[in-house]
Amino acid sequence: MTQPKNAIVTGSTSGIGLGIATALARQGMNLMLNGFGDLQEIEQIRAGLAETYGVHVLYSDADMSKPAAIEAMVEQAQAAFGQIDVLVNNAGIQHVSPVEDFPPEKWDAILAINLSSAFHTTRLLLPGMKARGWGRIINLASAHGLVASPYKSAYVAAKHGVIGLTKSVALEVAEEGVTVNAVCPGYVLTPLVEKQIPDTAKARGISEEEVRRDVLLKAQPTKKFVTVEQLGEAVLFLCGDSAASITGTSLSMDGGWTAQ
Ligand code: NAD
Repeated sequence: MTQPKNAIVTGSTSGIGLGIATALARQGMNLMLNGFGDLQEIEQIRAGLAETYGVHVLYSDADMSKPAAIEAMVEQAQAAFGQIDVLVNNAGIQHVSPVEDFPPEKWDAILAINLSSAFHTTRLLLPGMKARGWGRIINLASAHGLVASPYKSAYVAAKHGVIGLTKSVALEVAEEGVTVNAVCPGYVLTPLVEKQIPDTAKARGISEEEVRRDVLLKAQPTKKFVTVEQLGEAVLFLCGDSAASITGTSLSMDGGWTAQ
């Protein structure tokens, strides 16, 4: 990467998205942050990244379930930076419930935020990447994009969809200098996972400690949670020119979960 690149990372006010945004900033990329949370804390994150790494960092509170808001965020980023070279589709939510009790509005929200938002950002940013002959699209899927767990029907459906979208778009732009890949983490201890522990305990009739030990880490042969720093490094690698031949693939970072 010879000149500074500009990146959008959706859902980057917390967890994995923030870890990825930090890695990209460290590499010298200007950033559009996105997500929800306490506005003062978000401003501290934004200003901290800008100051620490000497890059331009913007923030959009666009709701990734709303196509018009996504368009506005993309326009804001393009107006400020001129072009967007790297797109990381990371925003995501979870809901744990047996399928027959799954609230339809939760199904719709998970599909919109975890899957359709990546379609919208991709369709909006791809023309510029193609015109310049360089681009990187990285979609945060999950081990649940490759295998299923019970009580996560919407999430598993959305993440399988993300991998399908990744493959399809990768083929469409294979000759254009744009790569499109999915990263598939196992469990990472972020607010998203912390929040589902009580519901999983309830759905399975076990304690929260048993959920951590017997449900979450049981899936991961390493018996270790994946870290946001490891994911940031993987995304940086996929952004580099040495990863130019990697496209349409799913990079598992799941401690061996899906090898079983
Ligand atoms: P998190 O809850 O810590 O962060 C999610 C981010 O998305 C936050 O910034 C939040 O504000 C934002 N967000 C939520 N709804 C949004 C909306 N409607 N519009 C815009 N932003 C919104 O979660 P995380 O664990 O960091 O997850 C990030 C991604 O990684 C998700 O796609 C998730 O499915 C995936 N993932 C997580 C794990 C894990 O174990 N934590 C494992 C595999 C995949």
